[in-house]
Amino acid sequence: METCFHPRLELIAPEELAALQLKRLRASVRRAAASPHYRETFAALGLKPGSIKTLDDVKRLPFTTKADLRAGFPNGFLAVDRRQAVRLHASSGTTGAPTAVYHSQADLRSWTGLCARSLFMIGLRPEDVFQNMVGYGLFTGGLGLHYGAEALGALVIPAGVGNSRRQVALMRQFGSTALHMIPSYALKLQETFRDMGLDPRRHTSLRLAVLGAEPHSELTRRRVEEIYGLKAFNSYGLSELNGPGVAMECPRQEGMHLWEDAFLLEIVNPATLEPVAEGETGEVVLTTLVRQAMPLIRYRTRDLASILPGPCPCGRPHRRLSRIEGRSDDMFIIKGVNVFPMQVEAVLMAEPEVGGNYLIELTREGSEEVMTVRAEVAEQARRMDAGKMAGLRKRLCAALKAEILLTPRVELAAPDSLPSGPGKAQRVDDRRRGGE
Ligand code: ADP
Ligand code: ZN
Repeated sequence: METCFHPRLELIAPEELAALQLKRLRASVRRAAASPHYRETFAALGLKPGSIKTLDDVKRLPFTTKADLRAGFPNGFLAVDRRQAVRLHASSGTTGAPTAVYHSQADLRSWTGLCARSLFMIGLRPEDVFQNMVGYGLFTGGLGLHYGAEALGALVIPAGVGNSRRQVALMRQFGSTALHMIPSYALKLQETFRDMGLDPRRHTSLRLAVLGAEPHSELTRRRVEEIYGLKAFNSYGLSELNGPGVAMECPRQEGMHLWEDAFLLEIVNPATLEPVAEGETGEVVLTTLVRQAMPLIRYRTRDLASILPGPCPCGRPHRRLSRIEGRSDDMFIIKGVNVFPMQVEAVLMAEPEVGGNYLIELTREGSEEVMTVRAEVAEQARRMDAGKMAGLRKRLCAALKAEILLTPRVELAAPDSLPSGPGKAQRVDDRRRGGE
């Protein structure tokens, strides 16, 4: 079947997949036991790697948290001789101190394979020109899909982040057909096209985009597709588990296939750590099944998602993850209400007159907590009159109230006026401390 890069593993029968997972889980637990961290934790629990007999036995294994990775920094999780490790990556440190991840040559081969099959699945082919507009270096987004795209034979432009005019020039000079970018940057880059007097739909050959590394709503995806005249696919990964190539949407664009031959998937209630009921949202927990240098057991990603019901019409048995609804550490509490930035984004993006960039500010006025949503208006709404502006603000307030159950202040800003950078967007500015 031409739609699969690795048909044997992508179209594996469910019972065969389960057998493969069990075999790989047992090997992975044995390998993990060679690392200082798991040697100690297994010993403390009296757990013998050989006692894992069924897939359900994974529940007897300890969870691994980001705090464990930090405590084990830099070598506590290394399960092979350091000389066998050939690559070091580190998480971008969005939420604190970085963590180190080692890869052996075999690890890089299997990661590359996962990225290649993900890209092939969305339609990338050897004739494509893949402009990779995310960070190279310790951040895994760049190198991960770079090697994947090369492995399937596409021409790769390792453009990296920023330098927007150059990005546009590269797209035109080399006829880029596919882009990899962070969604907030994808929305931002349209301004550069505008400044250069160009229309991305007419003046490029783009047909595919991979959007990853940060949460974004369905409406943001549609905006990106509309702006560039292409199909955009959601791509999920995290550096602790390689990086990109953990889960990717197929052409149906309904959930991301999580590659279950490489990762054992659980969704747990973050408070009780018990499995959630089928289809319910919870924390994604992943166990590496093929990694050698640094196996991770039941890694708590802190990302919240659910599993979509039923099989995918594309035929891949790998279960589909919903959009990441937020990360448990993204959530903020205001006036006793739990809010995820993604809920705010979904409301904003439903209004065509709202632009791509927004910021949520949390402040304190006396004893009162105040939430202010500052949103840029879209370029075409730049000259909106005061009456229309007031109407838009009123609509947004009402829609936000319906979504998050409290009424924030809404301030509309001129296009391109809020802070933004080429990396992951910071959506929440919490300035409530100090006022306490
Ligand atoms: P950091 O945790 O420092 O940001 P990474 O660069 O490894 O480190 O980022 C991984 C995180 O990025 C994931 O845990 C997840 O929260 C987020 N992420 C990655 N891809 C997506 C996606 N497609 N949708 C939503 N969030 C994503
Ligand atoms: Zn599918």
